[in-house]
Amino acid sequence: MSESGRWREILHWINGEWVYSETGRTYPKRNPATGEVMGQVQEAGRREVNEAVAAARRSMAGPWGRTSPSERADLLLRVAEGIQRRADEFVEAECGDTGKPHSLARFLDLPSAVASYRVFAQLAREESAERLSIETPDGKRAVNYILRGAKGVVAAICPWNAPLLILSWKVAPALAWGNAVVAKPSEETPTSANLLAEVLAEAGVPRGVYNVIHGFGGESAGAFLTEHPGIDALSFTGETATGKAIMKAASQNLRSLSLELGGKNPAIVFADADLNQATVGTLRSVFANCGQVCLATERVYVERPIFQEFVQRLKAGAESLKTGAPERMETTLGPLISERHRQRVLGHYERARALGAHVVTGGGVPEMEHGLEGGYWIQPTIWTGLAEDSPINQEEIFGPCCHVQPFDGEEEVIQMANDTPYGLACALWSKDTARAERVGQRIAAGILWVNSWGMPDLRLPFGGLKASGLGREGGNQARDFNTEIKNVFVKLDSTSS
Ligand code: NAD
Repeated sequence: MSESGRWREILHWINGEWVYSETGRTYPKRNPATGEVMGQVQEAGRREVNEAVAAARRSMAGPWGRTSPSERADLLLRVAEGIQRRADEFVEAECGDTGKPHSLARFLDLPSAVASYRVFAQLAREESAERLSIETPDGKRAVNYILRGAKGVVAAICPWNAPLLILSWKVAPALAWGNAVVAKPSEETPTSANLLAEVLAEAGVPRGVYNVIHGFGGESAGAFLTEHPGIDALSFTGETATGKAIMKAASQNLRSLSLELGGKNPAIVFADADLNQATVGTLRSVFANCGQVCLATERVYVERPIFQEFVQRLKAGAESLKTGAPERMETTLGPLISERHRQRVLGHYERARALGAHVVTGGGVPEMEHGLEGGYWIQPTIWTGLAEDSPINQEEIFGPCCHVQPFDGEEEVIQMANDTPYGLACALWSKDTARAERVGQRIAAGILWVNSWGMPDLRLPFGGLKASGLGREGGNQARDFNTEIKNVFVKLDSTSS
């Protein structure tokens, strides 16, 4: 049976077993490339969420709660190997759910997911120097140190744009520091979370340590999980509006929150940039994954002397992108995730026109070959001519599109780049690295690339400012989110009090 056939029925994974919803409620899962129904997904009610949280809590009280960092590190390395061993199945699961090109899943999503298990295996093994030798006021000796332990049960609520990768960024550190997880993948992309359940079980993760519940967000599995009193920490990636709703709901039980939210990211191209490098990098940053990347560039600022030439280069690049069946190696642009999202993005396309944008290329829906007409395809689109305060330059669109604007001088572009509610990422293109550094210092963003664009290394913190999030994933920030600390003071000379 092909993998798509195998996952025709998507169940919850609770306490090491596949579970149906008690209510019997299901919803259809569609292939974004064709629009066809690929299977039925169980929708969790409060009962399944309660069971998943209870299983996770029980697992913390069992042998899992006493594992050493190096045992957990070994286990994570086995998970990384397991994902690699089953790479073809993951590629099929990811691409069946998202419609993204196989090449993107195979060469970006999977290696990044695998790397997260390796990175956190290493970080979990490292002892940190959180220990002081102290002389007390009465002249005695003491040691004061930090004891670090798992936080408990971590809820991982994920979006659909990079299902395995984003889930792995949450699961790997949670397990590395000894937590149990209840994962809620996006309703659009349920499959790889289930495949991961099998890989974790094969690697030796005990029952109940990793659980998956499926369903929607508000008034469904996502909200039930967020409100659950048995959750100790909640890691969320998704839209800013959802992040705010989650923050409000989660406040009822005072728990740690990590929120990775939307972006409206600028790219800044100075006239002295290597134009080939800046063009290729900007095209990737706008159109990779059909623009459905939180780090995607949606605003391009180009220094006036090269503005016209750069727009023409971007136009040529956008028009050379190839839509088509995800499994074809030449396909470089997949569909959007759903018809609902396509209508939303097309609404922005219409609005841009109505606001008087000049449409450099795109703006509509492409003609697709037989078999793909029912998919959620959309044209890559470039605009110029809109004001900075236009909604097209202020709101996250999350589609394959950008607005290009000329600028004169550093001061102006810094002001333009910072002028949105978001603060996730920025790419700077210039041969003058001193200038890039000087301008970069003043850009309100959690991630800054100079003459590059891509996935940051997870050993360092990842995340955004302002409406783009709260807290960071990666590195020591992931350790702090996933652990509770105890300050221990031991007086060494026991003869005096
Ligand atoms: P979304 O906010 O609609 O959904 C994300 C997840 O939250 C889904 O699992 C959904 O079911 C759940 N959810 C929705 N409402 C909920 C509620 N009230 N309570 C609990 N859970 C709820 O986001 P999406 O459309 O899946 O993803 C796209 C968004 O994600 C974009 O805004 C993008 O920028 C953002 N994103 C951010 C990052 C980052 O690292 N900053 C990375 C990827 C995606």
